[in-house]
Amino acid sequence: MSPPPISQGVSEDRGADPLSRIRCVLVETTHTGNLGAAARALKTMGLTRLALVNPKQPPDADALARASGADDLLARATIHPDLVAALAGCRLVIGSSARLRSVEWPLLEPPEAAQRLLAEAAQGEVALVFGRESSGLSNDELARCHYLVHIPTNPRFSSLNLAAAVQVLAYEIRRAWREGRGDRL
Ligand code: SAH
Repeated sequence: MSPPPISQGVSEDRGADPLSRIRCVLVETTHTGNLGAAARALKTMGLTRLALVNPKQPPDADALARASGADDLLARATIHPDLVAALAGCRLVIGSSARLRSVEWPLLEPPEAAQRLLAEAAQGEVALVFGRESSGLSNDELARCHYLVHIPTNPRFSSLNLAAAVQVLAYEIRRAWREGRGDRL
């Protein structure tokens, strides 16, 4: 299985904010607290779209508590039976991996991943995919990704908490977006 080709050409709506076209996809999350923490991480960075693939449990009180004001993102989160369904309509898919995998999947540094997501989001829908707390993404799921992104960590202890990984990459996206606008504090 390979990801669909990155579409060339025409935009659906060039006017839309690219941040609104970036879908954060969480695959088979076990801990509902992580759903809330991920929603909070996204909202702090101006991202609004959360898609859940077959969560072990849907968002609950623990998720709401950890969302700490990002409950609107949780309430609007879409739930899908599998990754293919969650990626419907996406022209670019980047998978986030705690492990450095084989050369089969081109690997991006976080700033480059952020730039590519924003560039493609100017044209249409894109997705950033996160794996299970216990085992990450399966090979079939990785095969749906055009690129992988790895947050450079201590190689002997490389796995971040899921929501922490969402936060780091969401920040990179915001940083690249602000840079594109020439924003200063
Ligand atoms: N034990 C799993 C890691 C799970 S962490 C494994 O070995 O694959 C849950 C998810 O957080 C990962 O699937 C990945 O999407 C993200 N993540 C954690 N650490 C990361 C890192 N250093 N770089 C990129 N993504 C990371």
